[in-house]
Amino acid sequence: MQPRDLSDHVAYEAGRGIEEVARELDRDPSEFVKLASNENPHGPSPAAAVAISDAAGTVNSYPKAAHADLTAAVADRWGVADAQVWLANGGDGAIDYLHRATLDPGDDVLVPEPGFAYYGMSARFHHGGVREYSLSKNDEFTQDAGTVLESYDGERVVWLTSPHNPTGSTIDLEEIDRLADETADETLIVVDEAYGEFADVDSAVSLIEGRNGFAARDDVAVLRTFSKAYGLAGVRLGYAIVPDAWSDAYARVNTPFAASELACRAGLAAIDDDEHVDRTVETTLAAREYMRDHVEAHVWESEGNFVLVDVGDASAVAEEMQARGVIVRDCTSFGLPGCIRITCGTDEETDRAVETLNATLADLAADSGTTVEYDGTGDANPEVPDT
Ligand SMILES: *Cc1c(COP(=O)(O)O)cnc(C)c1O
Repeated sequence: MQPRDLSDHVAYEAGRGIEEVARELDRDPSEFVKLASNENPHGPSPAAAVAISDAAGTVNSYPKAAHADLTAAVADRWGVADAQVWLANGGDGAIDYLHRATLDPGDDVLVPEPGFAYYGMSARFHHGGVREYSLSKNDEFTQDAGTVLESYDGERVVWLTSPHNPTGSTIDLEEIDRLADETADETLIVVDEAYGEFADVDSAVSLIEGRNGFAARDDVAVLRTFSKAYGLAGVRLGYAIVPDAWSDAYARVNTPFAASELACRAGLAAIDDDEHVDRTVETTLAAREYMRDHVEAHVWESEGNFVLVDVGDASAVAEEMQARGVIVRDCTSFGLPGCIRITCGTDEETDRAVETLNATLADLAADSGTTVEYDGTGDANPEVPDT
């Protein structure tokens, strides 16, 4: 026998790891830095690392109390009821739960292109179809209600990513509110805020709860994760915040104990470790600015812990940078074959990435006998006024 028809399904292409690359190139792992997966360059929250060690002796039990305690802590952090917090195995797990709670077979979701691959993958796992709306490179990947509505055709779920991966653009809450107004009552707008901690914008939780001048809505949900700012990508912990009216659905869609004991204990410690998050955000802001000022190619404004760079031939540049010890993300799989994405590293890592990228661009241009578009006068990234 055979699995069902999986021809529409594609494998997730993760950023490449140091071990993997070092082995392939037969080199020592210590020669590499990895700035390809938007991980936290300062490691996990130290408090979370202690909590994980402390919890090691109790992993024979299912995570019941830890799950309840973390749910309460997250609910408290956002000022929502416990039942509005859907803990999951990573933000990706929360994407699955939202699809399980919404999609009947054949329902569609609307996702950004370029964008995060897992929205579409998850929809297909749940027997849904996938349609796309375009964010335009020529328009600085601007996100607003109009851009989405141009492609909207009654889909059950619309995915917004703010800050957006891989471009770093954001969408205003007023635009999300308008989008939710102009889509069908049965359409859920999910705002993926995986990079929310790095952005100077308010969370869309305000739309769910009716704060900051907005009326409360029952058609908006928010996704958050411990993988990025909290440095817990390896334990797999994320959550959705859903409208009050959705509270009962969690018990019917969640995979039992998918947020593990170690993950919940780590999350409980990390959520109170403001020092680690503050330090991480501070490093990120400095790295973003440094890359915009010093990379000799166009770098888009970003509100995430990464920047998107226009390099011409992304595969060639990423491969050459990797040979020189800096692993970055080739955005071809995101639908941007001209761009690479570089995660904000420690000061040293970011310096090295910029130096390596500039040298690579100059050498590849010299090799091919073409000149780089950028003329070296320092205005590849003119200041754009804050909006
Ligand atoms: C990283 C990321 C997530 C969630 O990742 P998890 O590790 O599963 O929590 C969700 N959305 C976007 C856009 C991301 O980049």
